Amino acid sequence: MPPLLRWLLARLAALLLLAEPFAGLDASPPSLLKPVYSSLFNGLRESRVVDSHRSLNESLLLAFDGTEYFSSEAIHCDQCSTRQHANGTVTYFHSVVTPVLVKPGCDEVIPLAPEFVTPQDGAVKQDCEINAAKRWLAGHGAECGRLNTTVFGDDLCCHEPFCLELRSYGLSFILVCKPATYEWLECWAGQTPNSNCCARSCPRASGCSTTSRP
Ligand SMILES: [Zn+2]
Repeated sequence: MPPLLRWLLARLAALLLLAEPFAGLDASPPSLLKPVYSSLFNGLRESRVVDSHRSLNESLLLAFDGTEYFSSEAIHCDQCSTRQHANGTVTYFHSVVTPVLVKPGCDEVIPLAPEFVTPQDGAVKQDCEINAAKRWLAGHGAECGRLNTTVFGDDLCCHEPFCLELRSYGLSFILVCKPATYEWLECWAGQTPNSNCCARSCPRASGCSTTSRP
């Protein structure tokens, strides 16, 4: 058996032994399992597996995305997020942000500790993916920055405050900009010159209507 596989199986056994005493695992806080992720990641670093995942500019590529893992219009709990529909019905759901180290051409990924989207103590507004991502960064961003990491994120992450937050941890980033969300950026980049573009920062005077700029 390859040493890495043997090591991973040993760690998985340790995880199961850790979880076994908690017969009602559903009632346990997710933070209970975070040390397991740290232990696994440190082991993968020591065995150089993490470094073998370096690619773009020798950085680690960290894909950030959220996913729903439960949804119902009938079953719900205090930790549910809710979606109100126009017809008055409510969908209850659970979602989570799942950071994963990826490498182009490699079908193996390294999952890092997830951050759950869940009601926060004292918060008035419902929790959301971007807030969960910020909580994750507060706990892991500095270490990722030291490891030379580039964050991948979707259109949801692509706004200045989040970019500044990433930079504050020393992280590089590649974020999706949907043309429908960032028409001015499409114009600025010369992809789709837009006569209605009114962004002050757009230098493409030939594509922009300067009279319509603020
Ligand atoms: Zn729930």
